[in-house]
This record gives sequence, C-alpha cells and structure tokens, in this order.
Amino acid sequence: MVEPRPDSVGLCFGCRWKRGATTRRGSVFFRCVRADVDPGLARYPALPVLACHGYEVAMLFVVLMHYTRPIEAVDAVRAAHVAHLERHAREGVFRAWARRSPPSGGVIVAAASDRAALDRIVATDPYITAGVASAEIVEFNPANVRLAL
Ligand code: SF4
Repeated sequence: MVEPRPDSVGLCFGCRWKRGATTRRGSVFFRCVRADVDPGLARYPALPVLACHGYEVAMLFVVLMHYTRPIEAVDAVRAAHVAHLERHAREGVFRAWARRSPPSGGVIVAAASDRAALDRIVATDPYITAGVASAEIVEFNPANVRLAL
C-alpha cells in the first residue's frame, strides 16, 4: 500500500472541504465536498492539488485522552487505538500523538472541517468504544500555527 503524504495530495490534505476515506484494501481516497456546490471543482480532484480557489485551512484541535480504567485494560486495546490513529492520519485528520507521562492518558493533535466531524471520528476510537478512556476536545484557530503540523 502506498502511504498518502501531504506532498502527494497537495492542498486537499489540509483543507477543511476534504473528506478522506479508506477502503477495505487500505487505499485512501480524498473527496472534495465543496465540489457539491461549486461546479468549478472536481469531487475527486487529480492529486496533488497545487492551487485551488476553494481551499480553506482545516480547524485544529487537541484531543486529550483521559484513561478511566487501569493501564492493563488500556493496553489491551492499544494496538487497535493506534491503528485507528494511523488510519485517520493517512486521511489527513490526526497529525501527532503521544501517551502522556506519567501515563494518565494521551494527547492527539488533529485537523478537521469542524468539531462535529472530529467528534464522530473520536467516538469510534477503540479506547472510547471499549470504555477505557474519555476524550476532551479543545479547538484552536490555525491562524497562529508556525511551521507545519
Ligand atoms: S476545495 Fe480545493 S483544496 Fe479543498 S478539498 Fe476541494 S479541491 Fe481540495
């Protein structure tokens, strides 16, 4: 499987109008939902997109995971949690993550079109569905980002 990289996807990777989807075989597709209302855009643009009149930067978030069960219960689903993070990283949502020290939870940096979209993704995280962690989501404006996330 070829990993999508920001430079192979172009502007769409960080655009709030992009929706990523992963097939069962692991291929990642990027759809432009702005194309639904803008006939000048393609629903599945040829990648990489290097210039686009519709581009708008995605909102940024910090997701603070708080473990609610003993670490052994958390680690029992950690591999599934990391696979979830990796999948949505390929789709351009999760940008960085780490377990907190001491291990009371995790920290995830994410980009998404809006809070509701990220809520839906976080709700399917194996930590959440297994009931071993709760998630606190903090939204912040990307205007003050320095260098690349
Ligand atoms: S608006 Fe442009 S940059 Fe954004 S997802 Fe659509 S094609 Fe990509």
